[in-house]
Amino acid sequence: MARKGKVEIDRELCKGCLLCIRACPVKALEQDAESNSSGSYPSKAVYAEKCIACGNCFEVCPDVCIQVYDLGA
Ligand code: SF4
Ligand code: SF4
Repeated sequence: MARKGKVEIDRELCKGCLLCIRACPVKALEQDAESNSSGSYPSKAVYAEKCIACGNCFEVCPDVCIQVYDLGA
């Protein structure tokens, strides 16, 4: 049974580089259609319920915009 995770993305800090979206093995993240106040289109946990708390998105984010919480199995 896969672990359950919770992912939070700071959409104002995010510059929309999409590295986290590519790094997510379960495709929980997508690019938001609405820009933030800097004009970037941030990553969004559109399918948050899929998150397995692997931490990949947290590790690849160059701007430390992502927090991942492990909610257990
Ligand atoms: S922690 Fe892993 S599964 Fe969850 S959103 Fe990030 S990359 Fe995807
Ligand atoms: S890796 Fe970080 S900066 Fe890049 S899209 Fe994801 S949250 Fe935004």
